[in-house]
Amino acid sequence: MGRILVTGGAGYIGSHVVRQLVERGETVVVLDNLSTGFRDAVIGAELVVGDIGDRVAVDALLGTGDIDTVMHFAAHTVVPESVSNPLKYYGNNTCGTRSLLAACAEAGVAHVVFSSTAAVYGMPSSGVADEDTPTLPINPYGWSKLMSETMLRDLSAATPLRHVVLRYFNVAGCDPGGRIGQNTPNATLLIKVACEHAVGKRPGLAIFGTDYDTPDGTCIRDYIHVEDLAAAHLGALDHLRGGGASTTLNCGYGHGYSVREVLEAVQRISGTRLDVREEPRRAGDPPALIARSEKLAKIFGWTPRHDDLDVIVSTALAWERTLLARGVR
Ligand code: UDP
Repeated sequence: MGRILVTGGAGYIGSHVVRQLVERGETVVVLDNLSTGFRDAVIGAELVVGDIGDRVAVDALLGTGDIDTVMHFAAHTVVPESVSNPLKYYGNNTCGTRSLLAACAEAGVAHVVFSSTAAVYGMPSSGVADEDTPTLPINPYGWSKLMSETMLRDLSAATPLRHVVLRYFNVAGCDPGGRIGQNTPNATLLIKVACEHAVGKRPGLAIFGTDYDTPDGTCIRDYIHVEDLAAAHLGALDHLRGGGASTTLNCGYGHGYSVREVLEAVQRISGTRLDVREEPRRAGDPPALIARSEKLAKIFGWTPRHDDLDVIVSTALAWERTLLARGVR
């Protein structure tokens, strides 16, 4: 059993994966440039501060020869920013991944687990996506991830490397132990924004679009708890170490909630009356985006443990209160 290199392991999802890996006895080294990650989010693993595009730093890590798996999370993830500054996304997410994969290939790394996104599907007409749904991103973030998926697929075809691509739907919630969570400044994601408002960090929030063709007129998304998502990564590791073939898997629960349902849950659980205004649709929002995720359950034997909006919201809210108590704005 080799060591595991986790890029972006000081970020939101990466730090939850690192914590679960360490808890089950894996030896983990994190490479993170701390541009959006936090040193104290890395629990129980060595942290190397550096960039995925820095071949000297990456080669030094992989040169030890005992890393069998690279889990690659390091990326920019803010969709509107990818529209206004696309080359930042192609540079870090796509070119950075190309550089990392070249280093992996040269060092003979056996497995790569790649953090991808439902944004590769764009706006599927049925609102439901399985892994064979055609990919057609509608923003540079989605394209930057799809290009990385493509490089990984082609590299695996040409070399002994095997990989798992995990396409995340709407990730939310945090460590039920309250140690780590989502720290993104200027967050735009619905549950984070609503919880920030509930604890008084924001004066209010908006619903973007109330005239969609959905039961209550607002968009529906498949919210997956970060702990279940992290567990899927451990499943990917076991799959690859067990000799499993390269594969691409959706990570979601297969059902969704509307924006109004999410806000009602935040209001009820926080006991705070939310100040919600209704605004026009946000560009590029599909009315519904739900995962078909049977493949994940079948291949990894993955069983969700936190498939409950109240649990997702409660843990997200608890984390906002922790940040507030620590004086983080
Ligand atoms: N949304 C909203 N108000 C907000 C943030 C998000 O109404 O302040 C809506 C957004 O339009 C979408 C859903 O919530 O319909 C989920 O958006 P989010 O940005 O969390 O994730 P996305 O699905 O865009 O990746």
